[in-house]
Amino acid sequence: MASSWGSFLQDEQQLEELARQAVDRALAEGVLLRTTQEPSSSNVVSYAPFTLFPSLVPSALLEQAYAVQMDFNLLVDAVSQNAAFLEQTLSSTIKRDTFTARLFDIYKQVLKEGIAQTVFLGLNRSDYMFQRNADGSPALKQIEINTISASFGGLASRTPAVHRHVLNVLGKTKEAARILSNNPSKGLALGIAKAWELYGSAKALVLLIAQEKERNVFDQRAIENELLARNIRVIRRRFEDVSEKGSLDQDRKLFLDGQEIAVVYFRDGYMPSQYNQQNWEARLLLERSCSVKCPDIATQLAGTKKVQQELSRVGVLEVLLPDQPEVVARLRATFAGLYSLDLGEEGDQAIAEALAAPNRFVLKPQREGGGNNLYGEEMVQTLERLKDSEERASYILMEKIEPEPFGNCLLRPGCPVRVVQCISELGIFGVYVRQGKTLVMNKHVGHLLRTKATEHADGGVVAGVAVLDNPYPV
Ligand code: ADP
Ligand code: MG
Repeated sequence: MASSWGSFLQDEQQLEELARQAVDRALAEGVLLRTTQEPSSSNVVSYAPFTLFPSLVPSALLEQAYAVQMDFNLLVDAVSQNAAFLEQTLSSTIKRDTFTARLFDIYKQVLKEGIAQTVFLGLNRSDYMFQRNADGSPALKQIEINTISASFGGLASRTPAVHRHVLNVLGKTKEAARILSNNPSKGLALGIAKAWELYGSAKALVLLIAQEKERNVFDQRAIENELLARNIRVIRRRFEDVSEKGSLDQDRKLFLDGQEIAVVYFRDGYMPSQYNQQNWEARLLLERSCSVKCPDIATQLAGTKKVQQELSRVGVLEVLLPDQPEVVARLRATFAGLYSLDLGEEGDQAIAEALAAPNRFVLKPQREGGGNNLYGEEMVQTLERLKDSEERASYILMEKIEPEPFGNCLLRPGCPVRVVQCISELGIFGVYVRQGKTLVMNKHVGHLLRTKATEHADGGVVAGVAVLDNPYPV
């Protein structure tokens, strides 16, 4: 996609002045992160990295992404309730991936004991890139869906004002007015509030599980603030606090510091480094409780890359979402090529294709949080090493999406202002609430655009690669 800010990108002096104004506005709006030096304190904070200009996104693709979000909510919810599908899909992976195996163990224990919670809450974010078709037109292709700790709903509500400001400074007032308003944190909080209400105890609290060293605290606070505005109290605690002070009563109600917990919202617990033995025990305790977990362990497993790959197999969506051909068609239209690496002929063929054309594929382990995928030469070496081992089943192979690059400036604390070639990733936030078998809420609640320089294969804002952005619909 060409940039319509082309003429502004040429004047270096003007860009620097514009960047100063944009940064000041970002700070004033609360587009903030704690610093890497002091991740557990808000004494010194800085702006979260962002693009100087909003990036062009075709309106049709934005609409398509919004339109399919409720379908993805249904799909994730269906997978999370299908024990046979989860068990079969993850069977080869859990043999070799200890993290997924550990999550799966908890899942099995909870199933065996009987699931105590009756209300289910999903807060997810489905991410896409814009694949360049052979004829040059862009197509919406899903990168992944995040079913645990989907972040930046809070900061994404603050960035539209910054980009409007930039365009207004340039006298582009009509363009400024076209930047969409966005408030995912409000919608996410509405989901939590609904789950809290259905849990049905006026004095019960929401427990936000977070790390002490959390740079992205202001993003989380945006949701806390929305809940407090609805008179729902939130406490922030670590897994360690749960293991020290948490308990279940005979009805498996969860208590922490003597207070009943209605909803547990995880902003931690999605990668191996976030668990020690104590934390695993705390996670199990939480899962066994009748509190609404966001997500429950089954929904976290539904968000693994292995599940994503199996969902793309012919006929699978039809089984999970019977009698809903239109939903299935909308979902499938967003799928990129996904390939199993399980031992056997199918996996052998996928590996052969990836080795023959490494630039067309991405190798993905069962990990979240950015920086884990393998590309190019690294992918080739790993595939050569794993070729004949069962370990290869802990990875999936994915078609690499190649969006058309465009110019923009990525503003980061301490970095010079310069124009670089970029690509974007669009995320849509989805919220659903189910009580027993009845879906009582299913909606999309906003978007997140992240942009990175083309020199980086992987992504992640906190990982230091991508920056916050806004879609400029064209
Ligand atoms: P994570 O769970 O670590 O966020 P992702 O699947 O989202 O894993 O991959 C991380 C990043 O790698 C993405 O944000 C994107 O920039 C890049 N990426 C992932 N899959 C693809 C793909 N199929 N094509 C191109 N880039 C990809
Ligand atoms: Mg991702």
